[in-house]
Amino acid sequence: MNYKEILDRVMAVVKPEENIGHLANYIPELGKVNPNKLGVHLSTTNNFDLGIGDNLEKFSIQSISKVFAVCLAYKTMGEGIWKRVDVEPSGNPFNSLVQLEADKGIPRNPFINAGAIVICDILISHLEKPKEAFLNFVREISDNPELTFCQKIADSEKSVGYRNIALCNFIKSLGNIENEPEEVLDFYFCLCSLEMTCQELSKAFLFLANGGQKVSDKKVILTKRQTKRINALMQTCGFYDESGEFAFEVGLPGKSGVGGGIVAVFPNNYSIAVWSPMLNAKGNSYKGMMFLEQFTTETEASIF
Ligand code: GLU
Repeated sequence: MNYKEILDRVMAVVKPEENIGHLANYIPELGKVNPNKLGVHLSTTNNFDLGIGDNLEKFSIQSISKVFAVCLAYKTMGEGIWKRVDVEPSGNPFNSLVQLEADKGIPRNPFINAGAIVICDILISHLEKPKEAFLNFVREISDNPELTFCQKIADSEKSVGYRNIALCNFIKSLGNIENEPEEVLDFYFCLCSLEMTCQELSKAFLFLANGGQKVSDKKVILTKRQTKRINALMQTCGFYDESGEFAFEVGLPGKSGVGGGIVAVFPNNYSIAVWSPMLNAKGNSYKGMMFLEQFTTETEASIF
């Protein structure tokens, strides 16, 4: 497969397209990003690495971090985490509160805000220094000791974080948060504030395309069974209430964030990260979706 030719071809089609949508300006710092950025990076399980456009520029990965958080919680606590958070698509917006009362405080999945907040609570309960442990985990899987939180973005989100504050308190009232909401939310805002490039993201996700084992140093991060489950969750729940659409158009497990990033994984083949900050109505990157749809169409390969 000539990936370079395909990336160039898809870029030439997607880049000049009209950039429809909006920035995630409900987080003030994210409203300042240049809407015309477009970067893509592909990393394959046989060590091929290729980027195009703004692939080396850092951006706010937001909810993509939720994949790192659930992987660390799964690794730390094992199957017990599924008692605290379910594995079903929610069919509702990422920051919705509506299902929680009927579901007795058990969020539908770890990739909606409610689920990620419970995962943060689990990490705080099980790890002595959760923020450090989380950063060490992301640094380890991406082979990059420099990765860190962006305090400016975390503070910006916290200053307007009424909805997440409500979610955390509501879940606490329903008995599924063990720690103080303030501590849980501080951790949640920090992990959403992580900044990475498309290159760093595609490398960080490569172990999920490689049965749970890093390609660079062969270190086992998750078992094959755990990896299957994380990929299944990304497939069914990774794109808010547009997860069906992403499976339909792209055909790969993946995760998006309101910073405009999307990472997708093709098991036994590659991981690919795309960044374009303008979001569609469901909160997914407009051109990111378009790029990946054309990429899997051109490569004629997906998990389906
Ligand atoms: N920090 C964002 C929020 O809680 C994450 C949303 C996202 O990327 O889906 O609103």
